Amino acid sequence: MIFDGFYGNDNLKRLLTETLKNHTTPHALLIEGERGAGAGYFGELLAGGILCEDGGCGVCRSCRKALKGIHPDIYVLDRGDEMIKVDDIRALGATAAVYPNDGERKAYVIKHADNMNKNAQNALLKLLEEPPSFVSFILCAESRNKLLDTILSRCVCLKVYPVSADEVSDYLIKNTKTKPDAAADIAAVSRGLIGRALTLTDKRRRKRYDERLELCLETLETLCFKSEYAFLKLAKKFSDERDRAKRENEDPASIFDMQKRLLSDVLHVSHGRSPEAFAFFGERIEALSARLSGEELAALYDICEDTKQLIFRNTNYNACINSFLVRAWEAVNG
Ligand SMILES: [Zn+2]
Repeated sequence: MIFDGFYGNDNLKRLLTETLKNHTTPHALLIEGERGAGAGYFGELLAGGILCEDGGCGVCRSCRKALKGIHPDIYVLDRGDEMIKVDDIRALGATAAVYPNDGERKAYVIKHADNMNKNAQNALLKLLEEPPSFVSFILCAESRNKLLDTILSRCVCLKVYPVSADEVSDYLIKNTKTKPDAAADIAAVSRGLIGRALTLTDKRRRKRYDERLELCLETLETLCFKSEYAFLKLAKKFSDERDRAKRENEDPASIFDMQKRLLSDVLHVSHGRSPEAFAFFGERIEALSARLSGEELAALYDICEDTKQLIFRNTNYNACINSFLVRAWEAVNG
């Protein structure tokens, strides 16, 4: 069924599956749900269900197009957090009288409908009062409080609710390749809101990216500007990095790919070009390029590649790192 990928909310899904099968789904609905609960996504799925001749089977041509977000008879208005103005609704209204492309019906999904200003709401009200017989309107909103009573009175109002922490965790594991431990951590602070969990997953990824890049920069800076003792002590940081990578389901060897991209950037800058991968760290990369010769950079690049291959082949990680540090120090300060 078309709602299968939507977690939780079994009563709502059952109710709408019934109305879709009996062709008794109301022509104007409001789906209300806290931010991150998926009201907008649910609205799109429902639109797909309405257009399906088989009550939202989830597998016919129409449903497959709807699930891919490419159905020509589903119109989605999504202004994000911006205000929805009267012109947006007028543009939508201008197309509403046109017959559907594919089947019997067409559907308009207005996401963040509570961001409609008053004029926009009044324009929508006119459409809801005299809708073409083949059109369905699905409004999605965090809260009905900002919508005019006259609009609410023309809509059947339904609600999507947060899901259980286990369901959030299951969603993350199946859809974002998050490892079970990390998924459980994120689920625990997501209050059952899958949208919120996805934002947190992204933030966590960005933070990891920054952490890894910082270790790469620190490695080269310590190599260039500090003592051998300080450089060899980096082994502990690499070991911590490996533990974090394992927790996040990342390949522990991939930090050496990042290190190689950084070395390429240093080489670019020493040839008077701009850094390609890490332009944001221009000054730090420039300082490294002034200190490292082309030959040293090439040698470091090869040492990184060797180390990556060794780790990849499951050689003892700490031994690989120690060997990496000794060889890198030799190549630059030997
Ligand atoms: Zn179908």
